Formats: sequence, C-alpha cells, structure tokens
Amino acid sequence: MFDIRSLAKFGTAKRFSTDEIFFNEGDPGHELFILLTGRVAVLLNSIDGSQFKVAELGPGAFFGEMSLLELMPRSATILALEESIVIAVDQNNFVELISNQPELIFRIMKGMSSRMRQLNEELAGLKPGDEDEIPNEGDGETSTAASALGSVAQAAIIPEAAKKQYSLTASKGDETYTFDKDTLCPVCEKPFNVKMVRSSKLRLKGHEPDLRQLFVDFEPLWYMAYVCPNCYYANFNYEFKQVNAEIKGMVIKESEKLKKEFKISFSNPRKLNEVLNSFYLVLHILYLARKPDLSKIAKVWLRLSWLYADADDQEMHRMATEKALEAFKETYFNSSRNTSPDQEQRLALLLGELSMRIDLLEESAKFFRNAILRKGGNAQINRQAEDRIQELKALILAQESAAE
Ligand SMILES: [Zn+2]
Repeated sequence: MFDIRSLAKFGTAKRFSTDEIFFNEGDPGHELFILLTGRVAVLLNSIDGSQFKVAELGPGAFFGEMSLLELMPRSATILALEESIVIAVDQNNFVELISNQPELIFRIMKGMSSRMRQLNEELAGLKPGDEDEIPNEGDGETSTAASALGSVAQAAIIPEAAKKQYSLTASKGDETYTFDKDTLCPVCEKPFNVKMVRSSKLRLKGHEPDLRQLFVDFEPLWYMAYVCPNCYYANFNYEFKQVNAEIKGMVIKESEKLKKEFKISFSNPRKLNEVLNSFYLVLHILYLARKPDLSKIAKVWLRLSWLYADADDQEMHRMATEKALEAFKETYFNSSRNTSPDQEQRLALLLGELSMRIDLLEESAKFFRNAILRKGGNAQINRQAEDRIQELKALILAQESAAE
C-alpha cells in the first residue's frame, strides 16, 4: 500500500459533491485522479444513448490513467456517488510521483488490467435487464451521415400535431430525485439554473425491449433537456457542454427567433408540454447544422416516443417511433465511423424492435437476423435476437390466424 498522504504533494486536492461528474466519456483530459475519500461510479455509453455502470471505486482507487498515459480522450464517465475528495495528478507530477513511489506503477497496471477484464465481461453481458444501467446520459458519438441527409433532414422538424396539449405533469415527489445547480452556457457563457437528477438515488425497475430504462417512482427523461434561458441553446444534459463552433454560431444568430418560436419555461412541477417543447428545441438545434447528426436526432425521437407513450398518445408515439427508426436506419446503413460488431448488433436489435412496434414485421425479422449474423458479434446479443425472432414468429402466426 502506498502512502496516500504523501501523494498530496504531487497533485491538487479536489472535492466533488454527490452526483457531480468528474469528467465525461470523450472529454479531453490529462489528469490522473486518486480517490482519497468517497465513492465513484465508472460509466460507459451505449449505442442507444443510455449509460451503464462498469465499476464502483472506493478510497485508494485511481482513475483517468488512460488519458494521462495515452493523451487520449476520457474513455469513461466518472460520477461521484457520494461526496468525494481526490488528488488530481497531471503529467509532470506523475513522472515525479512514480519516481518517488515506483510501486505505484504496478498498482496502476494491475488496476488497468482488471478494469479491462471487467469491461469485457460487462460488454459481453450487456443486455436489457442488466441491473447496473443508469439512465439519463448517453454517448458522445459524433457521427454524421452526410450522404443520408435527404429525407430525414428535410422532413418537417416539428409536426403540427406536436402542439397537442396534455394534462400530464411531473410528480411532486420528483424533488427527492432532483436538485438545483448553476451551470454555464457553453454558447453565451452566461450562468443559469438547471434541475439535475440525483443518479445515485435512482432505483432501476426494469427495461423495455427498446432499451428504455424504467425507474421506481421517477422518470429522469423529464429533466434531460437543458435550455439556456439567455440564448436558447438546448441539448441533453449528458452532452450539454459539447457544442461545436457551427452550432454555436447558428444559435447566436437564431436566438431571437428560437425564443419567439419555443417560449420555454418550466413550471413546478413541470408539465409534459414544457418537456416536449424543450425536446423539440433540442431537435431544432441539431437540425441547424449543415450536416445534422442523425444518431443524435434518432435518440431525441426515440425519447419523444417514450414521452408520448406515457401520455398514452398512440398516434404521436407511432409518429415519433417512425422518425427514430428512419434516423437510426440512416446511421446503421450509412455511418462511416468505426462501430464495433457489438455496437452494430445492438443497433440492429433496436431497429428490429422499433420496426416490430410499428408492424413492419418482415423488416423487423431482417434486422434481428442481421444482429444474429454479424460476424465477430457477441453471443449474448445473438441469443437475445433469436428470442425476439421467436416472439416475432408467434406474433405473425397470431395475426395470420386472426385474419383467417
Ligand atoms: Zn446561452
């Protein structure tokens, strides 16, 4: 065991409060953190936009070493599960630190190898139904399907029907699961207040086949979209700070128009229409890009479909599902980025699920088969896809016998 107290002189002590994010997957970063007190969760992004926990770390653990050693973006998100104090060590201090405490290098190597193993196991076992998935945050993928912009990007962004009014409001009890926090708008750089979700309090109830996570007494979806009241930049909480120069410029230019069109405000407790409105603003802003990011657009529609399902509006649920399916399909067939076989399988599975939901049964079967046949894929996902094909067959038989 190395001497934790002596580490303090090689870095800077930092305090993080419960639910605070140390850094997000994909962020740049060149510091190693050594946890002195508290507990943190290591989270990875999955293809559907949710996050899953791969590890929990306690005092004496360290993280961020990959970015420090390889100068690569952060490979995972770190979330404080309770108040935590860390020592942040940068590259210069790191060299000094290991020459002072050479045994530390073995700890780091050991930690890295066990974390890799854990990660591989998690990836192999990841499926809807895993206890550890946490919601409300997603990936930082930046895929654009430049060739595929035709129909999806030009389609009406906010359908007229989206102006429907619902009486649904958030529950008063939501206050237990949220807290107010000041954040800085990455576009206009003015501070404003957001409602953040206490991820540490969430209890997972189960999964829908389309990967939606359900929680006991709470729906984090209602708090996912942050809107800057000053410039009307809006984005999902997990990637709020990730905004490129193009979108930044467009939001500043369009700001007054956005304010007029969207009139965002949140009551307490918030109303479904206010939440929907904020999601449509997120969507609108994604479409301001010359080459809109279809994988992000797909995720907004998928989440809208869930909100409409909760409002019991079958028609809008279907419309949003169709839009999500269309955009996910474009990313599936046209994406140029390097997706792993696993990710591709999961996306195929999701495409099968969404197709099934809007009664495109043959197409659905095709996607499930793609998930099974993907070379180098994951056996667990294969089995899942096989299960879904069996259910699909039963559904087709039932429909045929009903038609007779
Ligand atoms: Zn702003």
